[in-house]
Amino acid sequence: MTKRVYLDSLGCRLNQGEINHLARQFAALDYPVVASAEEAELIILNTCAVTQGATKDSRKRLRQLHRASPNAQIIATGCYAHLEAATVGQLPGVAHVVDNLHKDTLVNQVTGQAPPKLFDLEPLQRNPTPASGGPTRAFLKVQDGCDNLCTFCVTRLARGKARSRSVEEVVRDVQFLEAQGYQEVVLTGVNLVAFGEDYGLEHGLKTLLATLLQATHLPRLRLSSVEPWNLDEGFFQLWENPRLCRHLHLPLQSGCDATLRRMLRRTSQAAFRALVEQARQAIPELALSTDLIVGFPGETEAEFAESLAFVTQMDFMKMHAFPFSAREGTAAPRLRGLVAPEVARERLATVQALSEAGEARYYQRYLGCTLPVLWEGVRGASEAGFLHMGLTDNYLKVETHAPQVISNQVLPVHLERYANGTLFGSLS
Ligand code: SF4
Repeated sequence: MTKRVYLDSLGCRLNQGEINHLARQFAALDYPVVASAEEAELIILNTCAVTQGATKDSRKRLRQLHRASPNAQIIATGCYAHLEAATVGQLPGVAHVVDNLHKDTLVNQVTGQAPPKLFDLEPLQRNPTPASGGPTRAFLKVQDGCDNLCTFCVTRLARGKARSRSVEEVVRDVQFLEAQGYQEVVLTGVNLVAFGEDYGLEHGLKTLLATLLQATHLPRLRLSSVEPWNLDEGFFQLWENPRLCRHLHLPLQSGCDATLRRMLRRTSQAAFRALVEQARQAIPELALSTDLIVGFPGETEAEFAESLAFVTQMDFMKMHAFPFSAREGTAAPRLRGLVAPEVARERLATVQALSEAGEARYYQRYLGCTLPVLWEGVRGASEAGFLHMGLTDNYLKVETHAPQVISNQVLPVHLERYANGTLFGSLS
């Protein structure tokens, strides 16, 4: 007998991509996918453990879900459930914990039926999950796990060894999403740059992108986070094809060489600078974003100042900064020189201010320009029409009024005003 199922996700785009895929699998087996926990008999939560705050949020969300639907069976999966299965299994309402290594068979474990083939999957438009990227943009997992040893990283412990899907399978998935009307697919993975390495595919990520550009026709392909190393010679030349979005997220984590060495990151100021120069040369107008950890063990005032100077030079469009979070099982908490939380908070505020200024500068460059926008949804309505929001390929958030609903279309807009991280414009 089928059950009404509600799916939700915390954390990264990889988690979103997984939960959307699970939702399509349930729908194909005639499990109604409902839009709120209150209506559900079965609840799936993809948890996160990237920081201590994320584990707390995951526990809180599981409790909220149980309160919303006390009789529903909750299935917890994802990184927090993987790392702390016993704790998660004790939480009220949690019937079952599925670790990351068995997530691919979650639907099979819950329903007792074989997971449906790709072509049996239904689009989510009629039953969107809250975690879904919306009907316009799909997050597609192509790779999982990581073999690097970054000393702060709990994700590699929670996700296991690097493993990739085959190019053929990914092509079929993208063709499927294209046939469902998606305008953009975001390729996600724990370590995308290692795509195909596990089965000996040479130039893996480059090969995947080149094949997708040839074998599919949807307007936009975007990469989620890409570790800033091991990118093939000529990788950025692929962006000669305008269907690849001019947006790269290269997580640097620190702009100081000594800190990067303690983090066991496989980059340095010089290597990162060279990579960014190559990327900017090949991709004009590139939107470049990054992640930065502040208050990593041993980060002195001088190291932080060096990091700040370097990221200022790099002129990122956006920086996602996080205070260091000690995660059990990782090496970093054992390093000398723990940074006081109030010092980390001050550094965080400094980086966030720098990021906001960089973002405003980048956005304002486009005032007076006309750019194509993928309109993702309606935020409201007034006498001026429906207020739509969308993204340019270089990741500018844009809003416009239109007399009719224009969601899921790529239409040009003339950009006229900037305020609070958004550009406002008129359809041209
Ligand atoms: S490369 Fe990324 S996922 Fe892999 S260990 Fe380092 S931070 Fe973690």
